Amino acid sequence: MVFGKFFRRSQPTSPPPPPEPPRDADYLAAVAVMEALQEHKRASHPLMKLVGEEAMLSRESFNRDGSIVLDKMIEEMMVKYKEAGLDTGELEARLRAEVANVPKPPSRFEHPINYAIIAKIADTAEAILRGKNMPIAKRPIFGTLQTGRLNGMAVRIKNDKYYLIFIEDGLFGFANLFSKCIAQAFPPKDGREGETTFSTDDDDVTLNIVSNDELLERFFDVIQAYVVAGYPHAARPYIPHPRYAGLASILTDTMEHFIIGHEYGHCVLGHLEGGSPQKAAFGDGQEVDLLSLPWKQELEADYMGFMVAMEAMDRQNLHFSLYYCGMEALFATMTVIERAVSILRFGEVREQVLDSHPPSDIRRMGLRMHLEKAVGEEGSAGAAELANKVTAIIEMMWVLTEPRFQEMREQGVQPHENWLH
Ligand SMILES: [Zn+2]
Repeated sequence: MVFGKFFRRSQPTSPPPPPEPPRDADYLAAVAVMEALQEHKRASHPLMKLVGEEAMLSRESFNRDGSIVLDKMIEEMMVKYKEAGLDTGELEARLRAEVANVPKPPSRFEHPINYAIIAKIADTAEAILRGKNMPIAKRPIFGTLQTGRLNGMAVRIKNDKYYLIFIEDGLFGFANLFSKCIAQAFPPKDGREGETTFSTDDDDVTLNIVSNDELLERFFDVIQAYVVAGYPHAARPYIPHPRYAGLASILTDTMEHFIIGHEYGHCVLGHLEGGSPQKAAFGDGQEVDLLSLPWKQELEADYMGFMVAMEAMDRQNLHFSLYYCGMEALFATMTVIERAVSILRFGEVREQVLDSHPPSDIRRMGLRMHLEKAVGEEGSAGAAELANKVTAIIEMMWVLTEPRFQEMREQGVQPHENWLH
């Protein structure tokens, strides 16, 4: 099987920024709660190190023109790239053009790039749900927060129009860097000119992984950056061969649409009206009510995530055989973070230290059922086969990396405080 034939990506034209959400009183009230929680966690926020406290606390830092955060972010990135001996000219120009359209986040503690990504995906998810006649009575407002929980986290607030949902800060960044590693596990094959072709033959892939120290180093580095520094972009920067960009971005896109689609699922299915509120201490002891939902509802929300991701990626003119695996890869991705944290904390792998969602295997089985139902057993065979391969790749890279986390534990390295709850 080759990937080449599935690549039908049209060159993305610079999309207009998503429309500003209505800033009514209910919206502002929900955002105020979001800001308060984010402010509470600001000491360990990656933005703090980047721009300093004064800029963090200033609303001006997120002005559309000359945003301090975006400028500093690009500046810092370029320094790191130069240190790594990489050419930055073209990249810097591209980044500056990309951030020119970034909308202003409602919260001063929201990273503008995270906000832009989430706002765009949320728009797509809402359009898909509207198209399926699934009304969204109460809309979610998304924010990122160092929650140390690998899924979205709904916080109970009194609000007639909005839910407040936090996505673990760094999860999207991690998905992005991790997807690059997954893509590079597939060895390139000679294809026709201009065609991106990779081998998915098990022996080729295994040989490529075990003989590729550089790839395993990247894999280790991004996990340890997230788990120990608390920030995936603390990993050493590098630019993978451009041939991997398409596949890596398909994986990331699918994961992100699934995550946001899953949260929309909870909203439209009314799950957030019930649930058992669970007191959770935050930072230095402030308590919030987190909603913990039954597994049945989590699996129902997975179906909505599946639906949103399938349709969103289909709209990019891609074949599901290529992108379906991104959803299963997300579960394997979460498992890897959980294992690394668990080894550093306990010296062994313990399940479910970071989450109350159903175990990955159960969620994966659920997705397979939805896939078969959607496209038939025969139709789903190719997608299922690639998903198996991707999961096996992550597993193999993890097995080769695990001893390094054991060593770190022996040296007394602990996970970032964010993961200790
Ligand atoms: Zn959920």
